[in-house]
Amino acid sequence: MDVALVQGRTAIVTGAAQGIGLEIARVLHAGGASVVLADLDAAAATAAAVALGDRAIGVGADVTDEAAVDSLVARAVEHFGSLDIMVNNAGITRDASLKKMTVDNFDAVITVHLRGTWLGVRAASAVMREQKSGSIVNISSLSGKSGNPGQTNYSAAKAGIVGLTKAAAKELAHHNVRVNSVQPGLIRTAMTEAMPPEVFAEREAAIPMKRAGEPREVANAVLFLASELSSYITGGVLEVGGGRLM
Ligand code: NAP
Repeated sequence: MDVALVQGRTAIVTGAAQGIGLEIARVLHAGGASVVLADLDAAAATAAAVALGDRAIGVGADVTDEAAVDSLVARAVEHFGSLDIMVNNAGITRDASLKKMTVDNFDAVITVHLRGTWLGVRAASAVMREQKSGSIVNISSLSGKSGNPGQTNYSAAKAGIVGLTKAAAKELAHHNVRVNSVQPGLIRTAMTEAMPPEVFAEREAAIPMKRAGEPREVANAVLFLASELSSYITGGVLEVGGGRLM
């Protein structure tokens, strides 16, 4: 994508060392933004930023850590002079049936997705509110729309992200700060490579478009929501699932 839709903006992407987050960082960077790639794995985030070249830095940050998220936002402003786009993407899965899921499995997933997204929204919106502009994009999942067996923790967290997004969108709209979420379906990343191949094939067969999505296809939806092309859209949920769960 060589159209400079986010030229001159500064973006943070969490969980950006690999998968969908890395692709979002690449697409925003190609769209002209300066990008802070944040990840638990600081070395991988830095290596990914170096590969992007100018206008990119890598930062180690655990999204569940209040101080780390606040200093991540401060770092973006300090380094690039503003914060215009915040993409709360970091995520984990700890799948198990209700019979087998532990409280630790439940808490870990809720904490990374819900607390992590909430901390990111709070810290980014503090800057954006003052500057009277900004776009926040939270990565939910179609699992939060439909509920997936074996994912009571993940489905709850991803549905929660939609509620959080809408509440924040209502609070921030009059400050010219938009907040939207994206619900990817089955996307080819390390997260889905962990699925048994027969389960992956079965899920793929149930998709109207008959294929899994690529990280780039999610990243392009994020670029749209980050850019002025979506200037009158807030509190929205954009499904990127090949028609799954219409
Ligand atoms: P992924 O390949 O596993 O990448 C997730 C990234 O988040 C990893 O780099 C991981 O770092 C990082 N991360 C995990 N916990 C973190 C924390 N506490 N603080 C900072 N970074 C953290 O996953 P993905 O498939 O790209 O998924 C990205 C997002 O899309 C997630 O929110 C996921 O739930 C959502 N999603 C994915 C799909 C799909 O089909 N893949 C579908 C719907 C939604 P480490 O590797 O160092 O742990």
